[in-house]
Amino acid sequence: MLACIPCLALFCLTMKNPARTLRFTPLAGAAALAAAALLGPVAALAQGAVAPTPTTLRPAVDKAYTQLMAAPQVARLLDAVKADHDRATDDLKMLTEIEAPPFKEQKRAEAFLARLKALGLTSAAIDAEGNVVGIRKGTGHGPKLVISAHLDTVFPAGTDVKVKERDGKLYAPGISDNTRGLAVLLSWLKVLNDQKIATVGDLVFVGNVGEEELGNLRGMKHLFKEHLDIDGMVALEPAPDGTVLVLGTGSHRHEVTFKGPGGHSYAAFGQVPSAIHGMGRAIAKIAEIRTPATPKTTFTVGTVGGGTSVNTIAPDARMAVDIRSDEMAPLLATEKQVLSAIDAAVAEENARWSVNTLTASTKLIGDRPGGRTAADSVIVEAAVRANTAFGRTTVLGGASTDANVPMSLGIPAIVIGGGGKTGGFHALSEWIDLTDAWKGAQTSLVTVLGLVGVQGVSEPLLEKRQKR
Ligand SMILES: [Zn+2]
Repeated sequence: MLACIPCLALFCLTMKNPARTLRFTPLAGAAALAAAALLGPVAALAQGAVAPTPTTLRPAVDKAYTQLMAAPQVARLLDAVKADHDRATDDLKMLTEIEAPPFKEQKRAEAFLARLKALGLTSAAIDAEGNVVGIRKGTGHGPKLVISAHLDTVFPAGTDVKVKERDGKLYAPGISDNTRGLAVLLSWLKVLNDQKIATVGDLVFVGNVGEEELGNLRGMKHLFKEHLDIDGMVALEPAPDGTVLVLGTGSHRHEVTFKGPGGHSYAAFGQVPSAIHGMGRAIAKIAEIRTPATPKTTFTVGTVGGGTSVNTIAPDARMAVDIRSDEMAPLLATEKQVLSAIDAAVAEENARWSVNTLTASTKLIGDRPGGRTAADSVIVEAAVRANTAFGRTTVLGGASTDANVPMSLGIPAIVIGGGGKTGGFHALSEWIDLTDAWKGAQTSLVTVLGLVGVQGVSEPLLEKRQKR
């Protein structure tokens, strides 16, 4: 049993490992309580939720899922998901044991591609960025939905990725985040083909690169640049039953380097600026920046370094600045203030000594766009209704994931779980308990089917967008 919902568990993990980048953002406790009080008991926020779960759904959403759950071919499909559990577990083990560090996902990409092809997705290929992409065509005139899981893990090359079985759980780095997602995609493909289910819309199967760390969502950025006709995205990530991520916190990170001539602390005094003093001026200005509480927007100078010795006017200093927001506009506004604080600090330090020899340069080392899928959008309502059909309660959460990219472009996107209890993300002790995990794979598949529609059963719910 989980002690707390993973949003919070992962939040704790983030606090413990600030260098790591699993980035769940539960609403601050006081703000959540205040929001809950305003909204009344029905729409009260669940713990860790970033928005109230919608309670009234569009009639079309209810109709589609009622039709799907009553259709004999869908019942057979769901049985096939259950029956495919052991084979899917073999895929999970096989893919987990192929290491996939950031920027080194190729071997796993090739293995995932080979499995997609073997299971009947002949059009699949690896794109220029390294993503595996294969389209399972619908019957026509339907929406195009990306269903994805990331290939990369946080673990460096040489990590022991052998899967070990203990106490009914499988242990291996990356097994739940996010190899399980890849295995679920393969299982969906197999059962859809075996059961000859024709969707109305197209399903774009994606195993993407660059979700973790300094990958900076490069896989998803490329995918959405290459494919301008995508109407929505459902990404799989380890998440407890019922969790639907609708918020993607954006972040920009800068490494800032201050450089001056340096000199002896006594002999050169008055003739040269100090890189450390200049940086100190910048930090003091940054510390005074005001950001909105809603959308939550944050900044911090996370690390500093520099200088030569206690009796040297520092020739160099550097710092790393992290800026985050739940929306892009305040993120960019805060970033602008940070950058102008640095410029002003350099000018002040030079003016203090009447010189022009201190400079600062900034390098963008982290770039994740942010955004939000509205709680009352069709894609969220679909997930809520599918959860209800399987007896699950929905909690709307937030995180920084692949879905940030479509969210930042205004394209409907959610992240849901693919089944199984999971834990230890980004740690060598990462595990998954696959007991009844097929139930999660069923729920998420039905969520997807409602969005694209099934020929002879239900109309697609996801709207076709204007091509970007
Ligand atoms: Zn992940």
